[in-house]
Formats: sequence, structure tokens, C-alpha cells
Amino acid sequence: MIQITMPLGFLGTVYREIRQALVDMAEMFGLLDQPAEVTDRPGAPALQVKGGAVEFEAVEFAYEPARPILRGISLRVGAGERVALVGPSGSGKSTIGRLLFRFYDVTGGALRIDGQDLRAVTQESLHAAIGVVPQDTVLFNDTILYNIAYGRPGATRAEIEDAARAARIHDFIAALPEGYDTPVGERGLKLSGGEKQRVGIARTLLKNPPILLLDEATSALDTQTERDIQDSLREMGRGRTVISIAHRLSTIADSDRIVVLEQGRIVEEGRHEDLLARGGRYAAMWARQSAEGAQDAA
Ligand code: ADP
Ligand code: MG
Repeated sequence: MIQITMPLGFLGTVYREIRQALVDMAEMFGLLDQPAEVTDRPGAPALQVKGGAVEFEAVEFAYEPARPILRGISLRVGAGERVALVGPSGSGKSTIGRLLFRFYDVTGGALRIDGQDLRAVTQESLHAAIGVVPQDTVLFNDTILYNIAYGRPGATRAEIEDAARAARIHDFIAALPEGYDTPVGERGLKLSGGEKQRVGIARTLLKNPPILLLDEATSALDTQTERDIQDSLREMGRGRTVISIAHRLSTIADSDRIVVLEQGRIVEEGRHEDLLARGGRYAAMWARQSAEGAQDAA
């Protein structure tokens, strides 16, 4: 169990980065009780990121041998490309995210970043290359400064403020009586869902990873906040490889490519317009969500 409320100032940088990665993952996938099951190979080198291309080659995966979850996923996400994973609940979207983070090893096929098999590089270097913006950002019981700085231990105050500006949370922070020194979290200032997400975005901007794994913004946000956050996420994705796990299709319709999963297989792939024109699974999902949206608005 990861004690996420513990102050971490006394921990070494490396340990902190590993914990950061674990906390990111835990936040994103609700895995707080799960231990990492993989270890580094002796003498494994660090991942050398060139552009951040991600390649799934005939990836098979099962949590339990008797129950295959991913059944031959082949997907290449080019450096700087924005790809969205969509599909019914249980189709394997989050599992793909977990494998990319090497929370588990593939049981068949291979997963590579810039040509390097994830099993051959250190987890630390892998985790440094991937930024996760989870649905619900966990705040530590510490200052807002600490909560942003966590993205990159050792960052300067100016860098932290720049990240906060880019995440459009700086003005809000600067207006607080204690500014960046305001305690937040359970025992401090309660931030709204949108503010917490912005702290999460600032954290990730500070980390500056070449690859982003996005979980869709929480539905608890109101429509305007949601739109603002989406804009910030889109901006953050510029010049990076982005893999979005989406539930609401409206937030990913402008992706370079949309990949539709069903029962652990890719069943459709293409741009929004092409998939609509095709009249298949994606078109049906889109029609269903549009009808629900119209109902909500009524
Ligand atoms: P999605 O994100 O598309 O909803 P997931 O990748 O979370 O789907 O889950 C895919 C399948 O794997 C589901 O059937 C789910 O029950 C199963 N699964 C997820 N996590 C575990 C786990 N830790 N152990 C066993 N089965 C799991
Ligand atoms: Mg999921």
C-alpha cells in the first residue's frame, strides 16, 4: 500500500521519482494495493528517447493465464502523434496503459519505445519518459509549491511558476494569502476538481516527458471547466506523443488516429470522419453518445 499522504521531503530523489511514477499509475488506474511485479534486468541501460515513438507488436497479455485480455494488439504511435483508445468498459484500454508503464510485462509479442524493448531498459528511465495525467490528481498534505515541484525534484522556483502559468493555475495561486506556500490536501485548502487537475497538469509540464498518457478528465467537472482543461491538455500534448484513454468521444474526436478496442482486439482504426463514414462500431458509439448528450442538454 502506498502511503500517499506521507510527507516525502526526506526521501532521496531516485526513490521519489519511482514513487512519483507509482503514484501517477495508482492515481490513474486505481492500483494502490498492487505491488509492481516487474524488476530491472541486471545491468539494464536507461531508455534513450529519440522522438517517443511507441510500438505494440502483436502484444498478448493476461492477468491470469486462463483469461486472455489483450489478443494480438499491433499499434504504432509515431513520435508526436496523438492517438486515442476507445472501446467498451473492459475492452483493455487501461491494460494497454499499464503495459506501457511496464506495470506488467507482456505475455506475448513486444512493446517498444523508439525501438527499445521495455523489458530491456530500467523502469526508472521508462517512468521518466512518460507523463500521466490521471482523472483525479492526488494532492499531498503539503504546500501547493511542493505539490507542483513533485513533478521534477530539483526544479527552480521560476520553473515551477512557469509550469503553473502554462497550466493556468498561477494566478489562482498568487491570489491566495500564502501564495505557493498554502497548504493543500486533506488537511489544507480544498481545491476544486478543476484546480486539482491543473496542479496535476503543472506537475506533468514540469516533468516535461516526451510521452503523455492521458486519462479523460473526470465527469465531475462542469462543462466550461472541462473545456478549459481539455484545451490545456491539448496544448500540453503539442510536440509530444500522446495516448489518450477516452470515455467521452467528444474529447478525442480531433485525434490524429482513433483506435477502437473490443475484447482485447483492435476492431477499427482511423480518423473521426473516416470512422463515422464507415458506419461501424465507432459510428454507433458516437451516435449513442450524441443522443445521450442531447438528452443531458434538454
Ligand atoms: P478498460 O480500461 O477498457 O475498461 P481494462 O484494461 O481495465 O479495461 O480491463 C480489461 C479486462 O481485464 C477486464 O475484463 C478486467 O476485468 C480485467 N482486469 C483488469 N485488471 C485486472 C487485474 N488486476 N486482475 C485480473 N483482471 C483484471
Ligand atoms: Mg479503464
